[in-house]
Amino acid sequence: MPERVQITVAESAGFCPGVKTAIDKVLELAKHSKKRIYTLGPLIHNKQVIETLKEQNIHSVNSAEEIKERGAILVIRAHGITPEEEKKIRSLGLEVVDATCPLVKHAQENIRAHAAEGCATIIVGDRDHAEVVGLMGYAGGHGHVVSGPEEIKKLRHLKKANIVAQTTQENEVFLAAVEEARKIAGELTVSNTICNPTRQRQKETVELSRDADLVIVVGGRNSANTARLFHICKRLAKKAVHIEKEDELKKSMFRGAAKVFITAGASTPTWMIEKVLEKAHELAASRENRLLEQLSLGWKLVITGSLYTALAAAALTYVCLKLEGAPVSGKFLLMAGLFAFSLHMANRAAEKGAAAPDKARKLLFVKYAVQSRFAALLAGALAIFLSAALGWQVLLTAAFFWLVGMLYPYKLPIGFEKFGNFPASKDLLIALGWAFMCAYAPGLGHGGALSNSTQLAVFFAFLLVFTRSVLFGVSHAHSDMITGKENFYKAAGPTLTYLTLFFIFLLLSAVLLAIKGMGWQPELASLLLTGLFYYLGLLLFFYFSRIPERITAETLIDAQFFILAALAYYS
Ligand code: SF4
Repeated sequence: MPERVQITVAESAGFCPGVKTAIDKVLELAKHSKKRIYTLGPLIHNKQVIETLKEQNIHSVNSAEEIKERGAILVIRAHGITPEEEKKIRSLGLEVVDATCPLVKHAQENIRAHAAEGCATIIVGDRDHAEVVGLMGYAGGHGHVVSGPEEIKKLRHLKKANIVAQTTQENEVFLAAVEEARKIAGELTVSNTICNPTRQRQKETVELSRDADLVIVVGGRNSANTARLFHICKRLAKKAVHIEKEDELKKSMFRGAAKVFITAGASTPTWMIEKVLEKAHELAASRENRLLEQLSLGWKLVITGSLYTALAAAALTYVCLKLEGAPVSGKFLLMAGLFAFSLHMANRAAEKGAAAPDKARKLLFVKYAVQSRFAALLAGALAIFLSAALGWQVLLTAAFFWLVGMLYPYKLPIGFEKFGNFPASKDLLIALGWAFMCAYAPGLGHGGALSNSTQLAVFFAFLLVFTRSVLFGVSHAHSDMITGKENFYKAAGPTLTYLTLFFIFLLLSAVLLAIKGMGWQPELASLLLTGLFYYLGLLLFFYFSRIPERITAETLIDAQFFILAALAYYS
């Protein structure tokens, strides 16, 4: 095996926008609706994701007639259905939610419009694929499905035809089919309906496969677009393998491979790709980079074990105490650190349980959940105990934030769901909790009454932590994690999110300029202002680059607190 193995993951790997939107829509429904949820056919061609959905009470049916409960929710998946079928299911007294991908809808409308002008439709795709079955329904009874140019030769002459592609079709196959169609059609309209995400995925796959010694294609064996990707890779790369899960990788596959390329179908979740990447690194590892691997594993434990978050909260408390002009007390740093540790740990446990891809992993997870919840409870109790020294108001408020934070990941009791559904409620709650524990409570402990400098420090901490939480939401959304509307990014969308974060950058700068202008902590304020450039850099990095995977994202986001604390230390 070569000493150094270069492993590249396709930027386009993972859920396509259509699949991601459909899954998010269904999970959002499951979170907030008490009705039973069905999808018309499996939501996605991926066994592991389907298992996870089942555990959340989202079931797949082959036909609407199988549903016996009145008022149940029936979701039309991203592939879409025929107009006749849609009419039928809407007449059955079910609540129908349409999650058809807008790009599939565009193809349906294209076919409908041309059919209305008297065109026969030629669809280049898989005859039995749900999307193609749905598209055929728009052809007005004059549709033909062909798998490629060879099958077009078998069609009889068509006076006027419109040729379209299944959205995940291989471009070369479609273009070859168009050439054949020109020979059999008197008048031919070419509508290349291959969607943009598919084009990008295929373009990247072609470019990187040519250069690779081994290509690993990750995705369900019943997924048509994964099969197409594998087909392209097999043609171009020295060696290509198609796997569903990381445990299908073998050391022998990496023999002689210096360049490995990992790509995945549109229905493969990012967490599965990350597992494959991890396993590939493990199998391809040479003796030299074992140390590096162990270091990265150690760092992962620091992050997932919530230690990094606890230290970040302590660092923020340090900055706030300095801004307030208060002596730094280890007790306050510990209190804030324990508080953040407790909530982070409990949230991770809940999140990990919900995302466990299969029953076996769920069972393994039970042990982890018990241990981490125990650690979370212990740390939370200690934080509240420490806050008691600051008076009963502080004790009650700390206990309130802690309790709400602990219960937030679970279904809220009746009467409280509205709060749970409130846009950005999660980010606001986290920011308020941290601002209280890192700035307000230490300020009170120091001065007994709230001074102007404490108020500004609380506002400063609130803005920083709100940004932290929103950026986490961005990173989670890109890792196929389940995020609801209470997450700002989900509720506001990318453009408004980044505009808001930029506005917060201006507000943070204004707070520091105000502190400087009032002559309280001019030197510290100037130093912290320079530290805000990291904040700005972080925003630009998230906006312009590919969002990093979770561990890197968390490392980068929380690093801002350590940078500010280091600057405060030298002021
Ligand atoms: S492959 Fe393209 S058309 Fe199909 S669901 Fe994904 S984004 Fe939509």
